Amino acid sequence: MDYTAAADRYTNGMKYNRCGRSGIILPALSLGLWHNFGDIDNQEEAEKMILYAFDHGITHIDIANNYGPPPGSAESNFGKIFKKQLQGYRDELIISSKAGYLMWPGPYGEWGSRKYLHASIDQSLKRTGLEYFDVFYSHRYDPNTPLEETMQALVDIVKQGKALYTAISNYPADKAAEAYKYLSAHNTPCLLHQCKYSMLVRDVEPEVLEVGKQHGVGLIAFSSLAQGLLTNKYLHGIPENSRAAKPSGFLQKEQVTPQVIAKVSKLNEVAARRGQTLAEMALVWVLKDPRVTSLIVGTSSVQQLKDNLNALQNPDFTAEELNEIETILRS
Ligand code: NDP
Repeated sequence: MDYTAAADRYTNGMKYNRCGRSGIILPALSLGLWHNFGDIDNQEEAEKMILYAFDHGITHIDIANNYGPPPGSAESNFGKIFKKQLQGYRDELIISSKAGYLMWPGPYGEWGSRKYLHASIDQSLKRTGLEYFDVFYSHRYDPNTPLEETMQALVDIVKQGKALYTAISNYPADKAAEAYKYLSAHNTPCLLHQCKYSMLVRDVEPEVLEVGKQHGVGLIAFSSLAQGLLTNKYLHGIPENSRAAKPSGFLQKEQVTPQVIAKVSKLNEVAARRGQTLAEMALVWVLKDPRVTSLIVGTSSVQQLKDNLNALQNPDFTAEELNEIETILRS
């Protein structure tokens, strides 16, 4: 281990929010390893981003079994960085993983069965080299598996010491409420609901947010930059090396439409008047809701992470700014 964490990592601007009614507080920004940490990515930059994040108070790293590419490689690469640089800081970190999407062939390699969740967490622990995850998620609602089976698998994973907290992701509001009740009744209350939430995708408003609040579960948002659309990067075309240009990226070129870019340009003007980049404004716009505990940013460089952390310097909106943003989004 040749890394020593910055001494001022908890006093240099990070804001921490309590996760629902739990004992855990999370940084307003968490780091996600969906893209940019796979075997196809630059490992040096990956390590720099993780260490930069930790040095700036980002104590939460979000992973899943299938992140890569290839699937699993984000966990393996994180495991190498952890072993080399962060082992001594294990108790200062919240590390999350998930299972739900396709991970291996056959009927037991995806969705929400007990068989899949147990096998998957064992694989994830092996790949990362961790003794336990802080948070383990059912990554998506499975309409064909009884909810009780999926939830009991999470309960047992916690009881076996493989994870400390249960969590769900991408559940509809009514199923999330059922999940919360089951998990609480079995003494492993749900810590987080992880959902897509940005100025452009607002499906969690209002039910998912409200149900979480009622049950004391924090909402953790992802793709709050709409995978890069809500930054200034696509204002003048699709840059080489951007997610939309990469064959492995989940943002399709077709999503970068003139209509979206027209909206984004107007939002960019509002951000400039606030003295922020659009990325910064898009992040604090999601964080302004007190039901949102944290949001997970994906970054492809330390510079982007730096920009995103700057967002926390100017988190407040005037009523006029919020109205103007609503008008642009509705146009
Ligand atoms: P974002 O919306 O934050 O998009 C990240 C991308 O935006 C980056 O890769 C980069 O694109 C671009 N970007 C980031 N910061 C800046 C900046 N300051 N300036 C310009 N461009 C910027 O989120 P993701 O979609 O990546 O999701 C974040 C995390 O959320 C994931 O890593 C994962 O942990 C989690 N997630 C969970 C899901 C679930 O189902 N539970 C689904 C999806 C994500 P570029 O590469 O082009 O530089």
